[in-house]
Amino acid sequence: MDRIATLPPLRETIAAHGLDAKKRFGQHFLLDLNLTRRIARAAAPLDEGTVIEVGPGPGGLTRALLLEGAANVVAIELDRRAIEALRELEAAADGHLALLEADALRIDPSTLGPAPRRIVANLPYNVSTPLLVRWLHAADELTDMVLMFQKEVVDRLVAAPRSKDYGRLSVIAQHVCEVRRLFDIPPSAFVPPPKVVSSVARLTPRPAADCLADLGPLERVTAAAFGQRRKMLRGSLAGLFRDPTAVLTDLGLSPTARAEELSVADFVRLAGRLDE
Ligand code: SAH
Repeated sequence: MDRIATLPPLRETIAAHGLDAKKRFGQHFLLDLNLTRRIARAAAPLDEGTVIEVGPGPGGLTRALLLEGAANVVAIELDRRAIEALRELEAAADGHLALLEADALRIDPSTLGPAPRRIVANLPYNVSTPLLVRWLHAADELTDMVLMFQKEVVDRLVAAPRSKDYGRLSVIAQHVCEVRRLFDIPPSAFVPPPKVVSSVARLTPRPAADCLADLGPLERVTAAAFGQRRKMLRGSLAGLFRDPTAVLTDLGLSPTARAEELSVADFVRLAGRLDE
């Protein structure tokens, strides 16, 4: 790893490859190696299976992952300029880094290398939620995810019932994963600084046996319930169940409750009754 430690500073890599941040790619680069190493360490152990990094950009987090001992990193990047800028790191990494020029939204993570698979990413904010939802659907193929989002997204991911941030994303993420907020990162840590504070979260998939095999019904129930979150459930679920009051009563839930009063487990039980 000595060769990685002696690479030119990231600012030089960025300048040499004209990798000025583009809004279109949601680019905000982290150049502080102390921060990127902190994110990399949160994803440990890195020396087994496959570490999947989405959106490496100039490669700050990628360097950190390799310096922290990642054995097999696959980095998926949409911007060809970044791929070119990463070639030097690829050479220095001596077989421990593979670059993939692709849209991560079109990639099935299970095809990228052997398990255990860990996804680590400073996500492009414009696609962070669709990417996460995609990975939640493939959670049985993943061991861990350490991801950076806008703080507001992490607020929703960890939200408890009866709070304003509790919604579809909270229920689906918490059903599939154990979700933890790790730490916040201020805008000033990025080049260019984004408008909002960022947060790093760890999402650890629960055993497949504890999760619904198909998330479709849970997505439909939460979409209906939170789509009209001020309505009573007997009203908001009327499009899904012939007799929502009967289903809710049968499950021991109040037909006049609102979406935010139901626990994750309550929504899972409701999803199980969808074919009625
Ligand atoms: N991880 C880097 C860069 C973060 S910016 C750092 O911390 O410095 C987000 C990165 O994701 C950019 O490099 C952007 O080009 C890339 N990106 C945006 N959309 C993408 C997509 N759909 N698939 C893969 N990479 C994407």
